[in-house]
Amino acid sequence: MITIITNKDLGTGTEASQRADGRAFDELRPLKIEAGVLKRADGSAYLELGGNKVLVAVYGPRELHIRRLMQPNRAVLRCRYNMAPFSVDDRKRPGPDRRSVEISKITSEALTPAVFLEKFPRSTIDVFIEILEAEGGTRCAGITAASVALADAGVPMRDLVVSCAAGKADGQVVLDLSEVEDKDGEADVPVAIMPRTGEVTLLQSDGNLTAEEFEKALNLAIEGCKKISKEQKNAIIKRYGD
Ligand code: UDP
Repeated sequence: MITIITNKDLGTGTEASQRADGRAFDELRPLKIEAGVLKRADGSAYLELGGNKVLVAVYGPRELHIRRLMQPNRAVLRCRYNMAPFSVDDRKRPGPDRRSVEISKITSEALTPAVFLEKFPRSTIDVFIEILEAEGGTRCAGITAASVALADAGVPMRDLVVSCAAGKADGQVVLDLSEVEDKDGEADVPVAIMPRTGEVTLLQSDGNLTAEEFEKALNLAIEGCKKISKEQKNAIIKRYGD
């Protein structure tokens, strides 16, 4: 059971104070999600969240030829998170690095509980996440877009995993950190959930928070996930109808 704590309860008195970009503490950046944007992929999605632009392509389920990865009783869900060299201010060196390997791994782990992998033994489902422009919160944006692309590919799922971060910036617990808030802020808590059951499939915490602040950030992120979840569903409905 998660108790709801507000900024007021924390005594920060910041309920009305605005953030650098003018948002309220519990306000998401402008969000746009579109399903089925790539002709050659089995499923795809495009997402914009503030200054983040994310493209996801899904291939599969298809036969997995690498024996050491193959699972006899289920498919494997392979995710590759990649930042384009032009996606950030200082050119990002192309190719994988520690950060992208970590994000690829946690993305796969966040999505796996939702997918009926047991229906596709000895197979693979491949998810390619390309960050075209980054402005803080790309791992969450990638997970949210990947769920839509998986649904677009017709991959059977228990639920659409949705992801959002909250954290602390300028002494205030806030939803959906911008790049400045992420870099200069005190803490970042990315979360992913399966909204139908409320099951948390990703929970990371970077920085310093009191237990109370952490709980507030977690609750804020979950509320943010619920709002984003509606847009995921709208994107699917827009492409396939009700
Ligand atoms: N970033 C950057 N260069 C990099 C990696 C990240 O400029 O090589 C920026 C980018 O805007 C990213 C932000 O820093 O969104 C925060 O990165 P973090 O590792 O916290 O992951 P994210 O918040 O994107 O999931």
